[in-house]
Amino acid sequence: MALEEYRKKRKFEETPEPAGRGRRRLRGQAASFVVQKHEATSLHYDFRLEIGGVLVSWAVPKGPSLDPSQKRLAMQTEDHPLEYAGFEGVIPEGHYGAGTVMVWDKGTYELEGDGAAAEQLAQGELKFKLNGEKLQGRFVLVRAGMRGASRGGKQWLLIKRRDESARQGWKPDRDDWSALTGRGLGEIAEGAPARRAAGRKPASAAAARSGRKSKVS
Ligand code: MN
Repeated sequence: MALEEYRKKRKFEETPEPAGRGRRRLRGQAASFVVQKHEATSLHYDFRLEIGGVLVSWAVPKGPSLDPSQKRLAMQTEDHPLEYAGFEGVIPEGHYGAGTVMVWDKGTYELEGDGAAAEQLAQGELKFKLNGEKLQGRFVLVRAGMRGASRGGKQWLLIKRRDESARQGWKPDRDDWSALTGRGLGEIAEGAPARRAAGRKPASAAAARSGRKSKVS
């Protein structure tokens, strides 16, 4: 796991994305995860897990789901630096991934399954439990059989496992605010100020929405 591909694709003097200094997690600190909603050529969610000092990343076109019956295609992309978990903003036109990025969810995860995360990743089945603001509970990422192998092993499925946080019919666009700043995609694109400090939840998604309306009108 390395950041060469990440760095090769970007011009850091022209994009606000972090180059990444290879920040390391402090001993005893929980591993982090982040989901970024990315309004690029096509809207998708980037799901990232901290493994081996980087954010191992998958692009999930339909976004993660708390519904165990919804198996979500997840295409593995280049590893990102840990600093990327705090990136929210606009990647300029003409640059790789041009468009608006929202920190849709963030938190920590606990590894489940047998073996270290890097081993599970190599074996094509990674089990973990998320502790985010929107996503909670047990998930599995499974490399998608022969089809996955034929595309260089990049094709995976992100699946919610059955537990007390599973929600039938749940959709990611129900909670459409930033977990970092409380802003919507449109506000991020306009460079509007943060609605809240990082790490503090609004009373509810509905409250965040109505608050947004009253400020706009
Ligand atoms: Mn993306």
